[in-house]
Amino acid sequence: MQGKRTASFQDLAAGKVSAPEARYHATATGHTTPQDAAVEVSEKDKIIHNIMTQYLPRDVDSILKQIVNHVEYTLARTKYNFDEQHAYQATAYSVRDRLIESWNDTQQYFTEKDVKRVYYLSMEFLMGRYLNNALLNLGIESQYQGALKKLGFDLDEVEHQERDPGLGNGGLGRLAACFMDSLATINYPAWGYGIRYKYGMFEQRISKEGYQIEIPDYWLTAGNPWEIERLDVKYPVRFYGEIKHNGKHYEWQGGEVVTAIAYDSPIPGYDTYNTLNLRLWSATPASEFDLDSFSRGDYYSAVASKEAAEKISSVLYPNDATEAGKELRLKQQHFFVSATLQDVVRRFKKKDRPLTELHTKVAIQLNDTHPTIGIAELMRIFMDHESMGWSAAWATTTKVFSYTNHTVLPEALERWSVDLVEKLLPRHMQIIYEINRRHLEEVVKKYPGDGDKLMRMSIIEEGFPKMVRMAVLAVVGSHHVNGVAAIHSGLVKSRLFPDFYKEQPDKFLNMTNGVTPRRWMQSANPALSEVISRWLETDEWVSNYELCRGLEQFVDSADMQREFREAKRTNKKRVAERIKKEFGVEVSTDAMFDIQVKRIHEYKRQLMNVLSIICRYNAIKRMTPAEKEECVPRVCIIGGKAAAGYVIAKHIIRLINGVSKVVNNDKDVGDLLKVFFMTNYNVTLAEDIIPANDISQHISTAGMEASGTSNMKFVMNGGLIIGTMDGANIEIREEIGNDNMFIFGLLEEEIDRARNELKYGGYQHTDSRLQEAMKQIEANKYCGKDVSEPLLKNLQPYNDYYLVTRDFSSYMDAQARVDEEYKNQTSWVKKTITSVARMGKFSSDRTIREYGEQIWNLEATPFVPSSVAYKTV
Ligand SMILES: *Cc1c(COP(=O)(O)O)cnc(C)c1O
Repeated sequence: MQGKRTASFQDLAAGKVSAPEARYHATATGHTTPQDAAVEVSEKDKIIHNIMTQYLPRDVDSILKQIVNHVEYTLARTKYNFDEQHAYQATAYSVRDRLIESWNDTQQYFTEKDVKRVYYLSMEFLMGRYLNNALLNLGIESQYQGALKKLGFDLDEVEHQERDPGLGNGGLGRLAACFMDSLATINYPAWGYGIRYKYGMFEQRISKEGYQIEIPDYWLTAGNPWEIERLDVKYPVRFYGEIKHNGKHYEWQGGEVVTAIAYDSPIPGYDTYNTLNLRLWSATPASEFDLDSFSRGDYYSAVASKEAAEKISSVLYPNDATEAGKELRLKQQHFFVSATLQDVVRRFKKKDRPLTELHTKVAIQLNDTHPTIGIAELMRIFMDHESMGWSAAWATTTKVFSYTNHTVLPEALERWSVDLVEKLLPRHMQIIYEINRRHLEEVVKKYPGDGDKLMRMSIIEEGFPKMVRMAVLAVVGSHHVNGVAAIHSGLVKSRLFPDFYKEQPDKFLNMTNGVTPRRWMQSANPALSEVISRWLETDEWVSNYELCRGLEQFVDSADMQREFREAKRTNKKRVAERIKKEFGVEVSTDAMFDIQVKRIHEYKRQLMNVLSIICRYNAIKRMTPAEKEECVPRVCIIGGKAAAGYVIAKHIIRLINGVSKVVNNDKDVGDLLKVFFMTNYNVTLAEDIIPANDISQHISTAGMEASGTSNMKFVMNGGLIIGTMDGANIEIREEIGNDNMFIFGLLEEEIDRARNELKYGGYQHTDSRLQEAMKQIEANKYCGKDVSEPLLKNLQPYNDYYLVTRDFSSYMDAQARVDEEYKNQTSWVKKTITSVARMGKFSSDRTIREYGEQIWNLEATPFVPSSVAYKTV
């Protein structure tokens, strides 16, 4: 082959090629021994080279052998008798083996190239299952299918054995996961850092009466084959204690020390060798022992107090847009951030250069304010451990950090009491005070006498108790601050940080969220993906979504319309089977599938959805047979978890289940309306049901949903949106066109006024349908008064903060348009084709490129072997 160069061991020794490149060439050419005797190499080097230059072969029979080997040697099972769960485990281990190869190569390559890296710090990574994603990204799904078939297993079934690692609540954690996939695919040098919670998001069950029940999610029961425990990668993390000055610098002593242990999971990119690392920290007792308490003979309580350390990484907090301010949560934050920064600084210091250059090799992204304590922690490391002065330390720190804001809801902004921070992290409190003092000094200089401005811009909120505003600390300590959709980034500037925006307008950016087409289309929706690839005559759209624009030229083709509809039917059939199995109810795939799945929250207005379902039910009950003929049948699917302590959200779930029971058992209604609450919404459930949507609901009160990402997933899977002018809905509309969406409701700029009218002006809705629905709820038709009373109270004008009653008529009008337009199936499918074609903006690849170019200043660094033989070995 022209231009193909064979790397020799000599090249390697002479530093002309990197070790990964050498391995690649060796595998590709079959030369696994050093070629040139002219280079002095030791026997040991030769042996290692021989082994290290061979990749695992990827043919069906070799893969089969690898799987069986894992059954025997890793799982210690007999080869002749293993079940699906063991088949899954062994398969996962064998995939992990090859991920480790590319991962080692990638990391070594990054190190050799001395690239700048981004570290994505997030309290949550909602990854979903790994197996299918890894197989698709590595391009070896069919080989694994073949190997498992020979063993008598079906790959699909084996994949279903994997448990969802639910280390996140919802959108924010899922965003981090989509970003990891895009970072790897774009070949950016990146690491994810977070916490390895023992208990992830609780498992949701529904009681016989229709109430939510939370079951602890001990997701590690069957082990986690995707992670690698790094017992040697560990750092001490301190809490409490006191501060001493030793004449040169401050020292933080005493208190409680725990050890953070690293667990690494490889993150493969799509159609690239690059494999990134997700490093999650687990807390263990510190290795140093307090000899005193042991020698006092109090052995058992000394051991018990050590064990308490593990609590720190034990459970994920259900962050539901209301800040709880719990001590353990702050502990978790400092725990993972401190371990991460120690790890990052250690990596940087391997090369001999001053720490004032840290920002040339390191960018740190704060996914919301949760890791913001890192700003004080890096200052502490710089000054107390590395003897840097304040100015140099601050200049470098502010060049390293950038911050993504995820909410403008005041009740969701993190604040910690000064007392708590002082007790738990005394040195950090000192540093925060000093950051604030210097920051306010600048403000005073510019605005002498403006006490209000000073109060607004202060990191410390005066009052009883005094509070640390983490979002302000994040803004002061970062070089860039971004929102996650255009409307949201506007509100970040105008409502949250107007004073800061005025001083440094260029600091504030918008990075509209995106989702990965690999998981949300290619993997979740093979039926539609196949249609798209066939019409585009390529599957490159999977990593270059803009290519889907090419679908638009075929929008009038009856063949394409039919194929889109068939793919939709396939996906609806699967969900219909699931419904049959779970609820024992038959639904028709001719019905419109109407889906709202997301965390249950008042601002997301599931209550408005269920009220409209009640109205639909009442309308159907009044229909004449002729009218019923004209009525479009609907299957309404709602799903989502309510935070365990969020009473109203749990009442909403109970109401949905009550309505479901009444409607589904009413013979008058027949096929025209069915309502289901899908339990335990998670990534796997999302992958299953999103492809089946005809219409999905994103109906938050305008200004309250920062972006939303499921809106993107639903449209990419060939459905239309009914929604408000909020979050990314606005930009989706810009891209796909107003004709392809059902927009309703007040605009963000109308909300304040409407709220005041409701609260003080005596505005009262006059929608008779809504009045009827509320009367039925009052009469406890769907649920008991424990639920109906508080829900109705929240709908009273003076209480209707989320404007459900105010937007209701407009919402019902939009629903009527949906019904009308669904009757014309040709025009409907054309809308979905056009929408799929125009969603390129919402690939997380686009989002990550923007972060890379505008915030992190990163270069794509693909490990590119000069031949493609690896893939065909
Ligand atoms: C995408 C996703 C979310 C975010 O949904 P929104 O509707 O944007 O709030 C939450 N949970 C899961 C499991 C998801 O996949």
